[in-house]
Amino acid sequence: MISQKMYELGTKKSTIRTIFEFGRQQAAKVGEENVFDFSLGNPNVPTPEFVKEAAIDILTNWEPSAVHGYTVAPGALQVRQAIAESINKRFGTNYAGKNIFMTAGAAAAITISFKALCQEGDEYITFAPFFPEYRCFVESVGGKLVVVPARTEDWQIDFAAFTERITNHTKAVIVNSPNNPSGAVYSEKTIQKLADILRAKEEEYHHPIFLISDEPYREIAFEGFTVPYIPKYYNDTIVCYSYSKAFSLPGERIGYIVVPDEIADYSKVFGAIAGAARVLTHVNAPSLWQYVVGRCADKPSNIATYVKNGKLLYDGLIDAGFECVQPQGAFYLFPKCLEEDDYAFCEHAKKYNLLLVPGTDFGCPGYFRVAYCIKTSTIERSLPLFKKLAEDYKK
Ligand code: PLP
Repeated sequence: MISQKMYELGTKKSTIRTIFEFGRQQAAKVGEENVFDFSLGNPNVPTPEFVKEAAIDILTNWEPSAVHGYTVAPGALQVRQAIAESINKRFGTNYAGKNIFMTAGAAAAITISFKALCQEGDEYITFAPFFPEYRCFVESVGGKLVVVPARTEDWQIDFAAFTERITNHTKAVIVNSPNNPSGAVYSEKTIQKLADILRAKEEEYHHPIFLISDEPYREIAFEGFTVPYIPKYYNDTIVCYSYSKAFSLPGERIGYIVVPDEIADYSKVFGAIAGAARVLTHVNAPSLWQYVVGRCADKPSNIATYVKNGKLLYDGLIDAGFECVQPQGAFYLFPKCLEEDDYAFCEHAKKYNLLLVPGTDFGCPGYFRVAYCIKTSTIERSLPLFKKLAEDYKK
């Protein structure tokens, strides 16, 4: 009668949602200020004034039909041109509006890209720890997700394990740097090696292997860590970008796909992206927010709070005795649990109202994710509790 698969997807609560709901119940019992909810990746930095000003100006001064009308499916050309020019300035590329396809955030950008590329039996490789939605995005288009185990010492890539998993069926590889949940940034050396391996495999199998770069955290990279612009290293790259975190606009659903001219068969790939967006009933990305981000394309993100929070939390966790890679970008840390079972560890942490997400959800058991896009004062007050939690395991 109905699709069992869709029913399961729609009704099975995610761990993060379950933790969040537990937090709400606890807040009612012990008070909001005594619950330390590190579960959600909702940016807490206010949306920049220039974004608000652009939205108000457009809403006030433009013809309503111009603001709220449909745009062409890939997005308003002047917006795509503004974004292309901004990327060119930053990364020395040579894009035009035709290389940009506006989407409702990174989630839509990724799903559209998967759908555009996927043929029955295709495999998509990603690296643990990874954004859990990749699995349902890939499976929804009939693909199979292949996971490369994590390189836990620095969250870069285990190239031996990666190479073993590339087959004639590999359609694409998905990377996410700065990473949710590890907070790591792939180094230039990592990207270079990834590109070299993929080029060799393309030659061996005589077909393109696409590299899909999921970049919602591109702007959140800390001092000393540069995020390489992947299309400059590998021609068959598709970039999925979002303003959800860059401008704290997750609810507005706005982002884009970059399809470079250098990709194998640009016009076929761009056409398939338009077709995928069409059958996914994407129609066009929200028009007001297209115009707003088009105006703000060159504006910077404010990452000062994330820098401060990341350092504070990292120092506190190390001081309490946790093992953790230092924050490099995004707004997550991914420390090692103090017992093998990450679910049991996160359950135990609830004793102190510390709400943490088990690493198994990201394909990496034995670790936990801490999202630090919350008030700095909440992090400060949580540090003695992390210490108590660690002491429980020393007894
Ligand atoms: N990719 C990663 C790694 C994410 O963490 C998120 C959201 O948290 C997304 C994609 C989806 O982002 P958007 O809000 O742009 O759809």
